[in-house]
Amino acid sequence: MAQTPRPTHPLSIDDAWAFTTAHAATTTFFFDFDGVLSPVTDDPDASQPAPAVLGVLERLAGAVQRVAIVSARPVSFLRSRFASLERVDLYGLYGLEVWHDGEVVTEPAALPWVPAMSDLAEQARAELPADVLVEYKRLSVALHYRVAPHEAGTVERWGHEQAERLGLRIQAGRMVVELKPPVDQDKGMVITEGVRNAGCAWYFGDDMSDIKAFDALRAREAVDPSFFGVAVAVANPETGAEVSSAADLTLDSPDAVAEFLTNGLARF
Ligand SMILES: [Mg+2]
Repeated sequence: MAQTPRPTHPLSIDDAWAFTTAHAATTTFFFDFDGVLSPVTDDPDASQPAPAVLGVLERLAGAVQRVAIVSARPVSFLRSRFASLERVDLYGLYGLEVWHDGEVVTEPAALPWVPAMSDLAEQARAELPADVLVEYKRLSVALHYRVAPHEAGTVERWGHEQAERLGLRIQAGRMVVELKPPVDQDKGMVITEGVRNAGCAWYFGDDMSDIKAFDALRAREAVDPSFFGVAVAVANPETGAEVSSAADLTLDSPDAVAEFLTNGLARF
């Protein structure tokens, strides 16, 4: 297994693919959804994977040990977009939900928060300006101001007040403030757990919450000299600079992600 030396960072794409193909049986590919597999849309309910994504993920799942999507979306949403991909694992709500053996498994510590989140979504709709889009996700509430960027300050203030009042956590993202239960679960923890027995892992992300996943790959490399992690950013005007600076390489768009994977798959 170890004939291919672990590539060094900054890495060459050729070296990264060479290591990956040599360790395909212990390699996992993790993807964020919004902004990575799907172009970001004004209405979050309207977003769809880029056209080539489904086919390329299916082929990738056949080439490596595991493919997983790790998203802030609920599993129910991810299922609605990826139901045809039986071999792709789904982590919803930053890992508070996992699609496993045909059902959604919810982190038990988060379940008691469902009523509070439902109330909070209702309150947000009543109190925030009408052009702020409130997305109720059962275990979290996301406040989108993409179509009303001038409301950013109002949304952030309101979010922090509610977080303090209810003891919630805040996750800032691309034109969004999300309120989550005070349960220790984030994308970094999903990746830390997910790479425990992996020889190689890639993570594709575009937002602040994805940097924790990049950090988890680095942390694994630090304790396991045989493990190789690749952090891939997807460019965007909001968080692109910060995410890119934490990544090994940056791709231009969800279409570019599909093309990059297609080219990589040709090496297997
Ligand atoms: Mg994203």
